Amino acid sequence: MLFGTIAPVMESSPESRTIEAVSTVLIAAPVNLNWSQGGMTGGAVRESVKRLGDLKGIFRDEDAWGAMDPNTEVYRVRWWPAVPHGEEGGLFWGVTVLQPGKVGREYFMTHGHFHADRTRAEYYATAAGRGILVRMGTEWRTWGENMSPNTLHYIRGEHAHRVVNVGDDPLIFWACWGSDAGYDYETIRQNGFGASVMERDGAPAIVAHE
Ligand code: MN
Repeated sequence: MLFGTIAPVMESSPESRTIEAVSTVLIAAPVNLNWSQGGMTGGAVRESVKRLGDLKGIFRDEDAWGAMDPNTEVYRVRWWPAVPHGEEGGLFWGVTVLQPGKVGREYFMTHGHFHADRTRAEYYATAAGRGILVRMGTEWRTWGENMSPNTLHYIRGEHAHRVVNVGDDPLIFWACWGSDAGYDYETIRQNGFGASVMERDGAPAIVAHE
């Protein structure tokens, strides 16, 4: 895709306002999106894949996790770091494709994190699939928000966030977040979330931990 950029209009004199030179420069967009399939292409796009083997300690049923193929893809993130990581005031843009599946009775999900800078918020916009956005505030207070095609979620900077695929198809959601948000995975690694999304009688249920 090409975007036209119109150069400033040059005036020969304020009186005549004659246009002396107009030029059009075509600049290729650095990144192109496939909204419905979670595609991002362009030389600046980065990609990372998380497999079951990378998610040790995240799922409740360690035995079920250990019995599964560690190479099973759980999710794939593509993003455009338009500015250097950590740059103040910049924005990143990305998409996550989260596969359907379960470890025991617990649905496939992302690792989940707080932002290192608790003032930095994030948008999630769902393109395809069915999921639950799990959010956690202070003292492990945890709740879920339904994700389905075209839902938009604003995640306050102080909330931990994780996404769970409770459907039968890949869950695809777009995200925009601050380049200076950073990641705090350690708090989740040590304490987890206050609840898990498990299958109960064939339907997803948010199960609080005691
Ligand atoms: Mn985030």
